[in-house]
Amino acid sequence: MKITEFFDRNEKTFSFEFFPPKDEISAVDFGINVGQLLKLDPSFVSVTYGAGGSTQERTFALVDYLQNKIGLTTMAHYTCVNATHDKVISDIGHLKTIGIENLMLLRGDPPKGKADSFNKDSSFQHASDLIPLARSLHPFSIGAAAYPEKHPEAQTLKEDLEHLLLKYEAGADFLLTQLFFDNEAYYKYVTLARNKGINCRIIPGIIPITSYKQIQKFTAMTGAYVPTALADKIKTYADNPEKIYQTGLDFAIKQCIELLEWGAPGIHFYTLNKSRATIEIYETLPKSLKS
Ligand code: FAD
Repeated sequence: MKITEFFDRNEKTFSFEFFPPKDEISAVDFGINVGQLLKLDPSFVSVTYGAGGSTQERTFALVDYLQNKIGLTTMAHYTCVNATHDKVISDIGHLKTIGIENLMLLRGDPPKGKADSFNKDSSFQHASDLIPLARSLHPFSIGAAAYPEKHPEAQTLKEDLEHLLLKYEAGADFLLTQLFFDNEAYYKYVTLARNKGINCRIIPGIIPITSYKQIQKFTAMTGAYVPTALADKIKTYADNPEKIYQTGLDFAIKQCIELLEWGAPGIHFYTLNKSRATIEIYETLPKSLKS
């Protein structure tokens, strides 16, 4: 099923993002966690591609499994950084053949420590170069990335929004945001996007903070602003994992409720292949905000 069908029916979407497990033990852990998450009956699930060094073949195998063996509406992430035209055509053709109807199309990043390997002559410099090609191959539902606190490479939010408009005009059906903790940034961003004529859904991406190390890693990676009160509380509990977990959970629940009350069209959960926090958040959300 295409994700846009939810939009046609005016339904909110609640979705889970996974990454392909790296080894056998992680695969068992993944199976247990995903089994729990599926009880929540997500609108769709998505699988990252090449992120954090995971292999690209595993993404294809996992989307095939989730779509065809488990029967979930599944979205494959796909990045074009340093890819050749032939590889892109072949990969997207493969995804189409295995019945994937939803693609999250991204530029991606060169491997860590190999920023120089970015091929400036490739015909794919940006996600906006990939979207029209995919669209010409099949009527996929297409998602693209949005950054309420701007992409780290962009000089200004204004400049980044110009580029977001290019992705929208190139054919993105919806946008999924980078993780953030400051709802005000999302509200302002959506308003600015609407003023630019970007009228598709901008679905907030939410990550529950579950450990001190994790928050340090993600804020360093994305530049996301952590509200001072939250950062202070987490620092105080640095040696108490269960307190940090509960603080992160309470924050994420409040964040999701406020986003949905504001009018967000659903929530995309960065699950990190874990189920506990996402289940607790989703089950706490009032029913009235889920439809
Ligand atoms: P782009 O849209 O190309 O933007 C990158 C930079 O270039 C921005 O600064 C932008 O302002 C600028 N820009 C964009 N278009 C143009 C243009 N036409 N001309 C000039 N400048 C332009 N990474 C992975 O490796 N695998 C994943 O599965 C993955 N999933 C993700 C899912 C989500 C929801 C998000 C938010 C990110 C994900 N990423 C993933 C990370 C992403 O690949 C990186 O953030 C990457 O640096 C940018 O990808 P993009 O598609 O946003 O790039």
